[in-house]
Amino acid sequence: MIEPSHYLSTTVKDLKPSGIRKFFDLAAGMEGVISLGVGEPDFVTSWNIREACILSLEQGYTSYTANAGLYELRREISHYLKEQTTVEYDPEKEILVTVGASQALDLALRAIINPGDEVIVIEPSFVSYASLVSLAGGVPVSVQTNGEMEFKLQPGELEAAITNKTKAIILCSPNNPTGTLLNKQELEKIALIIEKYDLLVISDEIYAELTYDETYSSFVSIEGMAERTILVSGFSKGFAMTGWRLGYVAACPEFSSAMLKIHQYSMMCAPTMAQYAAIEAMKNGKEDVLHMKKSYKQRRNLFVSALNEIGLSCHIPGGAFYAFPSVHKTGLTSEEFAEQLLKEEKVAVVPGSVFGASGEGYIRCSYASSLEQLQEALRRMQRFVQNRV
Ligand code: PMP
Repeated sequence: MIEPSHYLSTTVKDLKPSGIRKFFDLAAGMEGVISLGVGEPDFVTSWNIREACILSLEQGYTSYTANAGLYELRREISHYLKEQTTVEYDPEKEILVTVGASQALDLALRAIINPGDEVIVIEPSFVSYASLVSLAGGVPVSVQTNGEMEFKLQPGELEAAITNKTKAIILCSPNNPTGTLLNKQELEKIALIIEKYDLLVISDEIYAELTYDETYSSFVSIEGMAERTILVSGFSKGFAMTGWRLGYVAACPEFSSAMLKIHQYSMMCAPTMAQYAAIEAMKNGKEDVLHMKKSYKQRRNLFVSALNEIGLSCHIPGGAFYAFPSVHKTGLTSEEFAEQLLKEEKVAVVPGSVFGASGEGYIRCSYASSLEQLQEALRRMQRFVQNRV
């Protein structure tokens, strides 16, 4: 008999499992649960996109594509990014199609990290960042943001965390889990620090399509930042394509070819049929994206104002589909709140603490659920809160 754990890498042994999973598992074993826990659209991918995939299968396009992805898709992504960010990426040398934004993040980090390099993760943050930095051999350094400042990164806090080992920071706007959107002036202040300390930025722009009040500003459109930025994005959120596992990364040729080297050995290419679907999404998907965005905005307005009314104070999230209300008033920790709410009222939310220290005292609720479900969840949450304040 072997002892399997003796053979595991210490990096992997030290990784913490995602705190979100625990709540999925708890909720999965219960009946009548309303889940505000999952971070994905409640829309089915548009029919024309599904049809493009079916057509590609009918035509027998079932082999590998180029490692970097179908040229036609990269060209469409390049047009799309030009419109969204004003930056022109060369589809031949600067764009790489990946298996979700998740793989794009992994490639970006593995391409730049030497052992011991520090990468700044701004918390509360998407749960994968710190673990992906560790897996790449780097050291994640967290910088906290504050609920009173709507979780906007304060340049001074960023500067204080920079050391001579800092190589990059990971930015995410609109943010998961807070929904916070950084505007151009705020990004410009961050850019000054990036320039001053000669850092790189991995800009996770997966929620770029989903902004509700202000127009979206990409970090790469800030002067001088495109060359220092690896832009990560994909189809999962804006185009409601989570299950297709398709994303992309855009960066200068040196970074892109370094990522392509890793990608060709570890992945070969992203799924071919998903790539054909994505061409259709880029060419003809915008109208449906706008329709979904309108619907999220309506739900955000309803949900966030109701949260505030029941005493769970919440800033208005400028993007994505998450509300991040405070549960301080109840005297419960975020984990206690989420656990008791699930057990007593069968509403699943994610405790803010899983997203980093500054998430403690908050919960993440996804409002990508039907209006009926949101209204019922709010009734249950109101009852739950009333019994505690
Ligand atoms: N970045 C952020 C901020 C996310 O919220 C997610 C999905 N939850 C991802 C990346 C990964 O997206 P994908 O499905 O494209 O891998």
